[in-house]
Amino acid sequence: MTEASFDFDLIVIGAGYGGFDAAKHASEHGLRVGIVESGEMGGTCVNRGCVPSKALLAASGRVRELADAEHLSSFGIHAAPVRFERRKIAEHANKLVATIRSNLTKTLERAGVTILKGQGRLEGSQKVGLREPSGIDRILTAQDVILATGSDPFVPPGIETDGRTVFTSDEAVNLEWLPRWIAIIGSGYIGLEFADIYTALGCEVTVIEALDRVMPTFDPDITKIAKRHLIEHRDIDARAGVLASKVSPGCPVKVELSDAKSREFVEELEVDAVLVATGRVPRSQELNLESVGVETNRGFIPVDERMQVLVNDEPIQHLWAVGDVTGKLMLAHTAAAQGTVAVDNILGESSKIDYRSIPAATFTHPEISSVGLSEQDAKDLANNEGFDIGCVRSYFKANSKALAELESDGLLKLIFRKDSGEVMGAHIYGLHAADLIQEIANAIARRQSVSQLSKEVHTHPTLSEVVEVAYKQALKQLAKS
Ligand SMILES: Cc1cc2nc3c(=O)[nH]c(=O)nc-3n(C[C@H](O)[C@H](O)[C@H](O)COP(=O)(O)OP(=O)(O)OC[C@H]3O[C@@H](n4cnc5c(N)ncnc54)[C@H](O)[C@@H]3O)c2cc1C
Repeated sequence: MTEASFDFDLIVIGAGYGGFDAAKHASEHGLRVGIVESGEMGGTCVNRGCVPSKALLAASGRVRELADAEHLSSFGIHAAPVRFERRKIAEHANKLVATIRSNLTKTLERAGVTILKGQGRLEGSQKVGLREPSGIDRILTAQDVILATGSDPFVPPGIETDGRTVFTSDEAVNLEWLPRWIAIIGSGYIGLEFADIYTALGCEVTVIEALDRVMPTFDPDITKIAKRHLIEHRDIDARAGVLASKVSPGCPVKVELSDAKSREFVEELEVDAVLVATGRVPRSQELNLESVGVETNRGFIPVDERMQVLVNDEPIQHLWAVGDVTGKLMLAHTAAAQGTVAVDNILGESSKIDYRSIPAATFTHPEISSVGLSEQDAKDLANNEGFDIGCVRSYFKANSKALAELESDGLLKLIFRKDSGEVMGAHIYGLHAADLIQEIANAIARRQSVSQLSKEVHTHPTLSEVVEVAYKQALKQLAKS
């Protein structure tokens, strides 16, 4: 087939953050692009993820601040008891979702992308089957195809959801009611963000974590300090090493807890609601990947650093995958970055994704963020490659801006190579940690050394000086070695 005889230069299946970015980028570079979407434009992030959850966190964060009489009185402020309307908070999130979804759709239309509503699948190389909502099935051809079908919440066996008393984040973002007592299963970033929202709005929370420590995916030192403030100082009972082995919806919801290792019965809780936040599973089953011989890894589509899909570890021509369906750092900005990389490669540039410099954030109050390697992974790499790593801690309690805000609980941990000074990773807990991490992510992207970074002047008084202090401390360790 010649290029002109294809229906499109590029078909993207899935209009989430990954698909959106890829389609827009390709169209802006002159490709004829079609994007297939079976649900709502914007995917998880816009409709059921980042956007509504951050709107709820913004509103509930205000409530928390205004209700914290002790904190306010330290400034000499005495506020009246805080009142809030759950429905209006939910409306704020819904309106934001509608606005961003509409903006995103218009952006694609303006860029000249053809929006194809329906369910997409592969029908062999360079062919996409489209089942339209009317039931009509068509075959479209494209020079290149990008799979960007995202992920869905994972609900472990034994847990029955009804969407009302036992639900996932898909329903939680609607904030349809405020349970008096809610159990949150999972203490990853989604569980923590909802624990932040619910406790700010007066709910009692029990966090259930199957692994042997709460917040198992975070740096252990960051967890220690974050746990004290985000869990122990709040109306939260956290249980680690226990499994919610059976959850039955109703009034009350019955939660059977068993020991995560022995599987022996521990106790039964009766709560008003349960939020299941136990991770996400890729959405690849309906893609007919067999038609091109792709085998998934537990549903995740294997890709190389150029985002080309792999068959038996070899890239196959004209097929790409981006976003959550690839299982790499499942975040919206990762999906978007992968989308750009895939399109750059389609356009003939040689582009690779750099996962080490992609930051991650949890938007609790205060926030948690990280970028690059964990301390353990950095140590393992150092052992394998024969270099030493250094680790320094910079505390918010020594920062004038944090002290002025009376928000001085916070820690930045910086990991670097002792020989070259290259920054390997950073982990932050504290006020505006999600913004602070970006500076370090940029340094990692450029593989910069603390010798250079420690000379960069930071505005006084700002929280960014916490980063400056860390670079300067790290420099001293270089000089010593
Ligand atoms: C509660 C929550 C909060 C989050 N907060 C953040 C955050 O603060 N920051 C952050 O970076 N990330 C956050 N995330 C993660 C983020 O939402 C995802 O990483 C991101 O949406 C992944 O984008 P994607 O394009 O890969 O997939 P998705 O956004 O899941 O989009 C995939 C799209 O493909 C469509 N689709 C699937 N199969 C087909 C098919 N066969 N045919 C046609 N269409 C199909 C789906 O309908 C969907 O619209 C959050 C997630 C959740 C659940």
